[in-house]
Amino acid sequence: MVEFIDVYKKYPNGTVALKGINLKINKGDFAFIIGSSGSGKSTLLKLLMKEESVTQGDVIVNGYQLSKLHTRQVPYLRRSIGMVFQDFRLLPNKTVYENIAFAMEITECLPREIRRQVPMSLALVGLSRKANAYPHQLSGGEQQRVAIARSLVNNPALLIADEPTGNLDPENSWEIVKLLTEVNQRGTTVVVATHERSIVDAMKKRVIAIEKGKIIRDQQKGLYVDED
Ligand code: ADP
Ligand code: ADP
Repeated sequence: MVEFIDVYKKYPNGTVALKGINLKINKGDFAFIIGSSGSGKSTLLKLLMKEESVTQGDVIVNGYQLSKLHTRQVPYLRRSIGMVFQDFRLLPNKTVYENIAFAMEITECLPREIRRQVPMSLALVGLSRKANAYPHQLSGGEQQRVAIARSLVNNPALLIADEPTGNLDPENSWEIVKLLTEVNQRGTTVVVATHERSIVDAMKKRVIAIEKGKIIRDQQKGLYVDED
């Protein structure tokens, strides 16, 4: 599903953000990626989406070998991945319904498919009644639920969430984590980059800890801080 093979990433300014990453995440897994600011979490996620390219090594995602991926194939890769961000990234001038429909329109889905799928996605995140609201009329937690609904419309095999609870209060954070767990239980592989110790500790899922561009710990049912 996801594999990093001895991956190095050096930015043009000389910063080496990842130094020899080896990692395998299997289909159906739920994994946290933790590490302090600047440790390399975002770089790792950007490589997965092919927003950045590796300097050395290779990444395999959903069957795509990224070093060999042609530019024209990148949209197929991205369609196989759902992405959720800290700042939600909803379009402010579109309704909830339109935000989700738009994500399908740009991947050239048929209108019939869109009319069927959007209400299903909204129902999945419990926001059917907000279909015609604009993002600013929703709470942060609701906006993130819309973003999750949008990330799932193309039925991705992999959902990546970059600090998904970073802008939310604890109660809403838990709602989002619960939702991500449900998505995982329906078969989607979920990878969450986060700083939030309480969530990582409560979930007891796989923890991949990065520091200065290297994996320093990879543990099933891990805690934020290794107790040993
Ligand atoms: P994290 O997401 O854990 O905060 P990042 O992957 O954003 O870490 O950053 C890892 C390192 O790479 C940091 O030293 C950061 O300053 C550097 N970095 C990130 N993006 C760029 C870039 N576009 N150009 C140069 N350096 C970058
Ligand atoms: P609701 O009562 O769930 O908010 P409406 O009665 O306003 O929904 O809309 C009826 C149907 O049209 C629902 O299936 C809804 O999801 C869908 N819909 C809502 N907004 C739009 C829109 N902007 N474009 C197309 N269909 C929409």
